Amino acid sequence: MVGHAPEDALRHGYWRKLICGASNQDLAAVTDLAWVYTRAGIHCIDVAPDPAVVAAARQGIAAALHPGQPSPWLMVSLNDDTDPHFRKAHFDPRRCPEDCPRPCEATCPVAAISATGVAMARCYGCGRCLSVCPLGLIEERPWRLERSQLLKILETCQPEALEIHTRPGAVAPFTHLLTLLQPLLPRLRLLAVSAGGPLAQLIPYLWQLHGLLVKQPVPHLWQLDGRPMSGDLGRGTAHAAVALALGVSRHGPPGQLQVAGGVNQHTQTLLQRHGLAGRGERPPAVVGMAFGGAARQLLSPWLTAAQARGKPLHQHPDLADMAVGQAQALLNLPGWVGG
Ligand code: SF4
Ligand code: SF4
Repeated sequence: MVGHAPEDALRHGYWRKLICGASNQDLAAVTDLAWVYTRAGIHCIDVAPDPAVVAAARQGIAAALHPGQPSPWLMVSLNDDTDPHFRKAHFDPRRCPEDCPRPCEATCPVAAISATGVAMARCYGCGRCLSVCPLGLIEERPWRLERSQLLKILETCQPEALEIHTRPGAVAPFTHLLTLLQPLLPRLRLLAVSAGGPLAQLIPYLWQLHGLLVKQPVPHLWQLDGRPMSGDLGRGTAHAAVALALGVSRHGPPGQLQVAGGVNQHTQTLLQRHGLAGRGERPPAVVGMAFGGAARQLLSPWLTAAQARGKPLHQHPDLADMAVGQAQALLNLPGWVGG
């Protein structure tokens, strides 16, 4: 066996997701993360709504897949907090010295920069060019993403799954974003909703969202964010995510649950201790785990070592094998024999 299809992993409770990081736009690192975790059997890779990042992740996935191995899904994360805000780069090309080697142009992943400045329609505010100008001429300007542009970006990314990050009390912006996404939903394999917060507020909010989600043409999953942005580094951090899952499994709406935010190598044991993980034929309360900081930190020594040798990690078999071994141990997938 070389891995489970993502749908099977969800159904049987082995779902593993890699969170690349909503602000992780280091394309080389995204490719390496996608490569290593695809080799380790990941089912989904969650990235920023950035066509260049999506392309980098797809490149890593394609290079890593074994013959017959089901491809992990690419998930793009969005925030429902008012309209999504984006930024644009700007500079006045008349101030550029003629002999400038133009590092800004070389840095831009979508060729938005030319001798006439930044092409606004092309720039999607990734920010890569901001720090490369030796004269500091490039600035960022806030820019509100119009409906049609968000859809256009998502059309370019063609993700298999979307995730909406929300918070208790945000039903109006959530509904607004869900309405906006309608044209894309029938093509998706999964719509995840990520939320955390005190259970007393979270439970009624999830019930409110449940009323909206059951009418959608795509299956949904609740991502329970135990400790958003806390880092996933110690045994204690795993408890927050599991405690949230316990509360939602008892009092929350129907739907598959997946823990995140504080997920690490201790989480599965904790889920089992609380009767939330899959055992035997009984469908588990929690179908999976999303690894963020723990997954990225695990690879950081290997990424640094590869960088020092001047090539991507996956092009160094000695380092890559060790990185894959560690990633496999973290994911702890039953029956996985890839590598
Ligand atoms: S922020 Fe800069 S590098 Fe990024 S897309 Fe815009 S112009 Fe290109
Ligand atoms: S790096 Fe700075 S000075 Fe050089 S072309 Fe780009 S914006 Fe102009």
